[in-house]
Amino acid sequence: MTDIKSKYNLSPPEQGNSGIVLVIIFTLFIIACFIAPQHIWFFFAAFIIAIGSMYYFNSAKSGNKANFANPRGNETIVSKEALSQQRLVEALQFPAYILDSAGGVVFANKPSIAAFGKFTNGDKVFIRFRQPELRKLIEKALSSKSSLTGEYNEARPADRWFAVEIAPIFNKKGTKRNLFFLLGFHDLTEAKRTDQMRSDFIANASHELRTPLASLKGYLETIKGPARKDEKAIQKFTDVMLDQAKRMTRLVNDLLSLSRIEMQSHVRPSEIINLNEVIINVIDSVEGLAKHLDVRIVFEASKAVNIIGDRDELLQVFENLIENACKYGEEGKEIIVALERDDTTKSVIASVKDFGPGIALEHQHRITERFYRVDIARSREKQGTGLGLAIVKHILNRHTTRLEIQSAPDEGAKFLIRFPLADK
Ligand code: ADP
Repeated sequence: MTDIKSKYNLSPPEQGNSGIVLVIIFTLFIIACFIAPQHIWFFFAAFIIAIGSMYYFNSAKSGNKANFANPRGNETIVSKEALSQQRLVEALQFPAYILDSAGGVVFANKPSIAAFGKFTNGDKVFIRFRQPELRKLIEKALSSKSSLTGEYNEARPADRWFAVEIAPIFNKKGTKRNLFFLLGFHDLTEAKRTDQMRSDFIANASHELRTPLASLKGYLETIKGPARKDEKAIQKFTDVMLDQAKRMTRLVNDLLSLSRIEMQSHVRPSEIINLNEVIINVIDSVEGLAKHLDVRIVFEASKAVNIIGDRDELLQVFENLIENACKYGEEGKEIIVALERDDTTKSVIASVKDFGPGIALEHQHRITERFYRVDIARSREKQGTGLGLAIVKHILNRHTTRLEIQSAPDEGAKFLIRFPLADK
């Protein structure tokens, strides 16, 4: 047990006292029976009444006292009620404390020690939680003897958010004297982070759409105004407008893809897929782009590489990786797509390698984030949306595998994925 050695160890001796009184009453009863055996029933009744009254007063006295821990460090806990409160708080999976009415920590459970560290010897809770808002909340609950909720943010050692709840623990009799309080912390950090990511994502997506929209508007105004009669300018501007419209279409398609994949993320794929066939399909569809960018795709196939997957999603994965290799690879060089069966681990490693400028280490762990690009201008020039690798990551999560990157500047980039084989 993670007891705080507190000053609340008031009465182990009370049990010792009751024992002595009991022995005295019993001895008196025996002596009286010897001296006046004719009044044995009278003495017996007096004996029962004495014991009954003793227990009544004892329990009334200890009624509201919750003695949580012994200062000498043993586990003597006098009040059964206190013991059950302590066990209850100990069973909670979130950080929780029992406080006395002055804010002293009487008990701290294990999650609270892991989250906020230890208290010693009935320290006041404010020693650790100094934030004025939280202090006010606790003090108000202690003085008004009522339940209150609030939020608590810690900047150090890491940015963490908690929902805080403090409530009085009423004893069996419901009296408000010598009250203890339960102080609990529920971690909101993950939820806050998700909120932040969502709002960043909306801001990024709007920004990405706003740029081509603004340029479309500008060109339309020019065509309607000063360049109204300039055939050549109109031809040039409509070409640019078409490019911008295509860019917006690509962006919206990628956004829809992402949201569709996210919606299915909890459903495992179940089709049996031949990876050779998927990759040949993708290579056929990107052949035009490869020619246009002057790169040559080489495919090193493998025999019998059936995996469990979702065909459309796997097509998307290899489309994104091979298109990226074409876009960011070196002109006039090769792109090597390979499937390697690994019979010892019953898996297949799919890889896409180019001989372009590569990706520096500091960018490698970020390029699967939405809208993250090493060089925004180059990505736009290559008609990128910054969402391709985010889509790949999400699809691979659903396939319970992940993307590995091997790259160094000027040494090209190799993307690898390991899939378990279906026909083991
Ligand atoms: P984009 O649409 O910009 O290509 P991706 O999500 O597909 O977006 O890729 C994110 C970024 O990762 C790219 O903008 C690029 O900077 C980098 N990147 C991806 N693939 C390669 C590669 N094969 N070589 C070098 N950089 C790459």
